[in-house]
Amino acid sequence: MILQQLLYLPAYYKNRQEAVNTVMLSNLNIEKKENQLICNCIANRKYQVSIIINGRIQSSSEIMIDCTCESFKYEFAYTVGRDKSLIYPNRYLKTISKDKNKFLHLTGCKHLIKFGSYIFANKIKIERSFNNVIK
Ligand SMILES: [Zn+2]
Repeated sequence: MILQQLLYLPAYYKNRQEAVNTVMLSNLNIEKKENQLICNCIANRKYQVSIIINGRIQSSSEIMIDCTCESFKYEFAYTVGRDKSLIYPNRYLKTISKDKNKFLHLTGCKHLIKFGSYIFANKIKIERSFNNVIK
């Protein structure tokens, strides 16, 4: 999947925008490892949210994702796994189901949407901090 899929909510998820707005992010940590940006944070003091970005921060960049919330596990992990974009596919072997995501839309929970949007909105600042490394 690509970063863009975390940036825009599809029409039938529009009512989730309010939920996304209330997500609180803390403990932000972004590291560069070879050609990847490993991005981690905590959402609402509870959930570990992770996004791995290949290459630069662009809406077309390939990403892999994970969130420890129930919504991600039961609603989104199925389509993300089918796309081979789960960071920890083994976590979901027993729990993933396509039932709750009837549209099979490839996106993340509200925590991932909030974090992805934050990273994209701050891409200049983030990339500048890795200035001489990212090409
Ligand atoms: Zn989540």
